[in-house]
Amino acid sequence: MPNEQQIREALTKVMDPELNRSIVDLGMVHDITFEDGTVSFTLALTIIGCPMKQQMQDDARARLMELPGVRDVHIDLREMTAEEKQAIQGAPQQSGSASAYNHIKHVVAIVSGKGGVGKSTVSALLAVALQRKGYRVGLLDADITGPSIPRMLLQGQPRPMGGPLGILPVTTSEGIKVMSINLLLENPNQAVIWRGPLISGAIQQFYGDVAWGDLDYLVVDLPPGTSDASLTVMQSLPVHGIVLVTTPQALSGMVVRKAWSMAQQLDIPVLGIVENMSYAVCPDCGAHHEIFGPSRVGELAESIGAPLLGRLPIEPGLAELADSGRLEEAETNAFGIVASAVVEQLPA
Ligand code: ADP
Repeated sequence: MPNEQQIREALTKVMDPELNRSIVDLGMVHDITFEDGTVSFTLALTIIGCPMKQQMQDDARARLMELPGVRDVHIDLREMTAEEKQAIQGAPQQSGSASAYNHIKHVVAIVSGKGGVGKSTVSALLAVALQRKGYRVGLLDADITGPSIPRMLLQGQPRPMGGPLGILPVTTSEGIKVMSINLLLENPNQAVIWRGPLISGAIQQFYGDVAWGDLDYLVVDLPPGTSDASLTVMQSLPVHGIVLVTTPQALSGMVVRKAWSMAQQLDIPVLGIVENMSYAVCPDCGAHHEIFGPSRVGELAESIGAPLLGRLPIEPGLAELADSGRLEEAETNAFGIVASAVVEQLPA
């Protein structure tokens, strides 16, 4: 028969995944009772709509069922009172900012020389492929002037919720944590015209004030080109490596060199190049047609000394999935290779 102390001890192993601390330490466990083989307690959530509540309940149930004599677990949910929330934020070991609790191992920025080459698609697919490999992945839409990540990966108009330590990212159906300015706008079609210092501030907030929790990889979709916006974003985040995205047009290769030289100036390693829309596959005979002309990406990669991570075909199905928020359903075989190359260079 477990006593209250033993029940409490078992529950200290249950973590709030957002805050990365035990639910007992966070003062979330109340009113413990044990009667006729049933443990009952109240779990006080930081917000009642906490997206992690099911996971915490499942973990708590599993831990308690391991105790001898426990046959059932009953959990009541409630929201923390203002004082309880204050106590978490005001605890001496807390800074009140999410960044103190975030553990982000690697920040990978996706860069293109110009718009429309598939940078956001590549960012999203890389996140999906890393997640499928079992890593904990976040996706930060830093393309603040043309944010398109939510449209590709989320359906409806989910809103990020506020937690005690910061904004909680929206989670996709497969578990990728997403943050984008579009999720915060009343009207996602609204144009956002930001200048340098504002962009820098917003991006730093997205990095530091969002409760990302533990991540192996944070994939960042940068603004296109080598404009002030992309430079500012790169300087505002601790980027560990960049992936360049290009298409077969010669002009695109030239602009990619510019993006590469920007990375050089900022002393950020280039993990490799992805050529998007490289070719189309004939649905009848399977032949590859290089619609934009022959690829020169091999030469380009060699000339800048970066590995070629992959050549992706034009896939009409991909655009369709992206347009309906279902890009996570895409086949990511080609991306598995890109993701492996990233993991090899930045091991989690
Ligand atoms: P960028 O971020 O570089 O502006 P996007 O990722 O938004 O580019 O892609 C531009 C458009 O091209 C989108 O409609 C997207 O669905 C489509 N697209 C991107 N890559 C492919 C591909 N390999 N096959 C088919 N459509 C693609």
